[in-house]
Amino acid sequence: MIFLTRSQAGRDSFMAIKILPPDLAAKIAAGEVVERPASVVKELMENSIDAGSSQITIEIKEGGVEQISVIDDGHGIPAEEVAIAFQRHATSKIDAQDQLDAIATLGFRGEALPSIAAVSHTTIITRQPLNTAGFRLELLWGEEGSSGAQGCRPGTSIEVSDLFGNLPARRKFLRSSSGETSRIQELVSRYALVFPCVRFQLMVDGRISFTSPGNGLPREALLAVYGPQAAKAMLEIQEDNPETGYQVDGFVSAPSLSRANRSYMTFFVNRRWVQSRMLSYAVEEAYMGLLQIKRFPLAALNIIIPYEDVDVNYHPSKREVRFREESRVFSTVQRAVRGVLVADSPVPSLAPPPESDYRSAIPTSFFPRSAFGGGRSGGGMLDYSPNPMGEPAVGADPLQPAPPLKVVGQLKLTYIVAEGSAGMFLVDQHAAHERVLFDRICEKKEGQEAQYQPLLEPISVELTPAQGDTLKTNHDELVKYGFQFEPFGDGSYLLRAVPAIFSDGDAAKSLLDVLDTTAFEGLVRQKEDVTAASIACHGAIRAGKSLTEPEMVALLEQLEATPNPHTCPHGRPTMVHFSSMHMEREFGRR
Ligand code: ADP
Ligand code: MG
Repeated sequence: MIFLTRSQAGRDSFMAIKILPPDLAAKIAAGEVVERPASVVKELMENSIDAGSSQITIEIKEGGVEQISVIDDGHGIPAEEVAIAFQRHATSKIDAQDQLDAIATLGFRGEALPSIAAVSHTTIITRQPLNTAGFRLELLWGEEGSSGAQGCRPGTSIEVSDLFGNLPARRKFLRSSSGETSRIQELVSRYALVFPCVRFQLMVDGRISFTSPGNGLPREALLAVYGPQAAKAMLEIQEDNPETGYQVDGFVSAPSLSRANRSYMTFFVNRRWVQSRMLSYAVEEAYMGLLQIKRFPLAALNIIIPYEDVDVNYHPSKREVRFREESRVFSTVQRAVRGVLVADSPVPSLAPPPESDYRSAIPTSFFPRSAFGGGRSGGGMLDYSPNPMGEPAVGADPLQPAPPLKVVGQLKLTYIVAEGSAGMFLVDQHAAHERVLFDRICEKKEGQEAQYQPLLEPISVELTPAQGDTLKTNHDELVKYGFQFEPFGDGSYLLRAVPAIFSDGDAAKSLLDVLDTTAFEGLVRQKEDVTAASIACHGAIRAGKSLTEPEMVALLEQLEATPNPHTCPHGRPTMVHFSSMHMEREFGRR
């Protein structure tokens, strides 16, 4: 037997410290900026915007891996500076520390062009408007190749092909070409919303996929992105506080329009697209009491704040920013949004929506929250044991059938109060029905005809590029579960039938909701389950619906018959158990 000593074992990985060769260092650095094709499009579009362009055309092939071209009519680059622009930390946008504290351009790090060039075959052709000829430079994996004068229109065109050809590992991590395409479609449409003066055109594999009018009218940009139906239901925000210098511009949806996930909220800070949970919370809070649970608004907001109050130099991709006064930003956005919502329709005297967290349905004074820590078993039914004697809380076995239950009544139009041999049970009517439908849908699929409801008149439904992409990727499952539709041109579809469980609802809305939920759930679940879970979720009776006793009895019987009755397909419990023993103890009978 051979024993390695610690030093012997480490010897293979031990190397002297040295500076990495420039091409390797460039590849590593490039990885931070250029994560995928959409990051290339973002950086090139931002450069075009910084160059004062009024028209930007983006062409992609094969999800951008084969080719990305961005063509603008901006101020171009002088011939003698083109090669410099491809060197690391070369920028025309800042030249001193004090400017770093107040950045007005989208670019400033001087990293995009060298990073993109390091991992692709790049060709730039650029001409300044006052020059008669342009200049062309080719680079392969960052190495300069041929260059020279070239006739062209004023502006800059950059063509990037064979992206990550020298980084096979990175290429393997990319999504399918349609997945990468839809990211790019989303990106371009988001920029079109906050730069209404710029005409964006996106060509995908030779076909026009999106065009914005570029006439400076924000509502028309909105129309191009969301389509006429949604655009009509969007409220404009123009909030300007001269005292703080904070401004909020853009659109949010009226409460009548909502989506099943958060991806329809877009935020820009000083016209820079940012990702910020804080900002989406601020918007969601403004809708408090106006939307059902698990429904989210649409929003496209540009928040303008003094440059020195925001640090954009926080992440290489520039997607995250830091605010000097986060709470002020939060309240400014929340108040601006709430303001237009209230002005649009006086806030109805609705109680806040039922909390999505099942724990808060139980008064804390009655059931100490801490008791729930160990009370869950496999995400299954909650068995409440208040633990006053230090007893462990016992969870139900998720694979046990549901106990036979007798209906006592309905509580808060949300829960069915029921009695079983082991005590009292509170059943969440939506979660329980969701489970019943989900199992029924999954059971049906093998070799059986889907139960569908043909529509009397086919309905035309407009899809956003992202929804269209979800529809294409999940086409077979959607059809298998009962949707029937066909392309109707221009991103819309003609809907002819819906799954039978949607028969008395809004057919178009059911398709949109299922697509949104599928997109969202698709990140965490297996493909087939996703469509079934989304259909079940949207077909299930809602919280807030009054149920008759026979309806409650039927639901409990159906739940009893499902093989996995204790959780809904999303993993939330369908029922909470209050044991007889616990009740007796609480009333001092034990
Ligand atoms: P940054 O945008 O951070 O300055 P980049 O690497 O993206 O860095 O670009 C380097 C420089 O090249 C820019 O500062 C700008 O001067 C010039 N440049 C890049 N793209 C364009 C364009 N489309 N039009 C005009 N100039 C451009
Ligand atoms: Mg740049």
